[in-house]
Amino acid sequence: MGKPVIICIDDEATVINSLKIELKKAIGEECIIETAEGGTDAIELVNELLAEGSEVAVVLSDYIMPDLKGDEVLKKIHSMSPNTLTIMLTGQADLEAVGRAIKYAKLYRYLPKPWQIEDLKLTVVEAVHSYLQDKKLKEQTFKLKQLNEELERLTKEQSKIISQRTSELEKLNRELDRLAHLDGLTEVANRRQFDKCISTEWLRMCREKQPLSLILCDVDNFKSYNDQYGHLQGDDCLKKVAQTIAHSVKRPADLVARYGGEEFVIVLPYTSIEGAFTVAEEVRNAVQQLLIPNYTAQPLPYITISLGVATFIPSRHLSALALINAADKSLYQAKKRGRNQTVIYNEESKAIIEV
Ligand code: GH3
Ligand code: MG
Ligand code: MG
Repeated sequence: MGKPVIICIDDEATVINSLKIELKKAIGEECIIETAEGGTDAIELVNELLAEGSEVAVVLSDYIMPDLKGDEVLKKIHSMSPNTLTIMLTGQADLEAVGRAIKYAKLYRYLPKPWQIEDLKLTVVEAVHSYLQDKKLKEQTFKLKQLNEELERLTKEQSKIISQRTSELEKLNRELDRLAHLDGLTEVANRRQFDKCISTEWLRMCREKQPLSLILCDVDNFKSYNDQYGHLQGDDCLKKVAQTIAHSVKRPADLVARYGGEEFVIVLPYTSIEGAFTVAEEVRNAVQQLLIPNYTAQPLPYITISLGVATFIPSRHLSALALINAADKSLYQAKKRGRNQTVIYNEESKAIIEV
């Protein structure tokens, strides 16, 4: 783009010639100075300049001219090139025209006639600088706006990626958390989860003075199963038994966990000895119903389990260990009495109950 243009409009040729010379001295090589001898000429000139891509920085117009009055010319030019700064030269009598020019042509300054040439030169130089500064400011604002938009776009993209990653991480965390509580082989709760659960429930039932039941289950003759069918099939059998036990237990507070090896444990809060016995028998039947062959086993040639039940109303003088030991004693009795059966331990009489 070429240099900015200043246009001087006056119907007196001598005035515009001297204006041109004086402004040339004041502005030097910074601008191109054009002249027009009337309003119509000026508008045509602006049209041409704009068409060829020039910038009209400042227009300086006389007020009284034969074809168009100064304020009309400036109004028209302002509508064609809104960034152009307009200056009107006018006598005292034409202040109304100044008002119109301010309103419709966003008049930048007006100079009363007769003008001091130094005043005029200063005003035009100031206008040109103001125009150039304005232009620079607009360009910078535009660039800033673009940068801002780009930044906003990038920020949005980033936050989208971050929220995606966060939800992926949360999902993984939940999965990790779940896995941390589960036994890898059987997918029931692991021993760590049982330890946590039994001490919590012991304290809770202690506070509420409610019965807490525990069932220890041990797969019968499992060593011989492994020996006959191999360890892998043994694993498979354990998975089936574990899932069967898990499905036989219904209440949300109940917990089925792998206690170790081929032993499982069931925690039943708010459950009396009778209730626990019923659950134990359901579990025992359900496992037997799987009809997993174990030919050398006794008393049946299938996979069965023995169960030891104990129920305590927890007290602060004892720990959950007492309950576990009692259930273990019952289980031992169940094995001793021939397997595939449930034995219960009575806390009060501290003895096995015959059912
Ligand atoms: P009982 O009826 O007296 O309980 O006899 P049992 O053979 O079941 O008991 P024992 O304690 O003699 O053997 C338990 C077997 O369980 C031995 C062990 O290898 C097997 N076992 C323990 N954990 C696993 C496991 O994760 N996978 C497999 N396949 N076998 C296991
Ligand atoms: Mg065992
Ligand atoms: Mg066993």
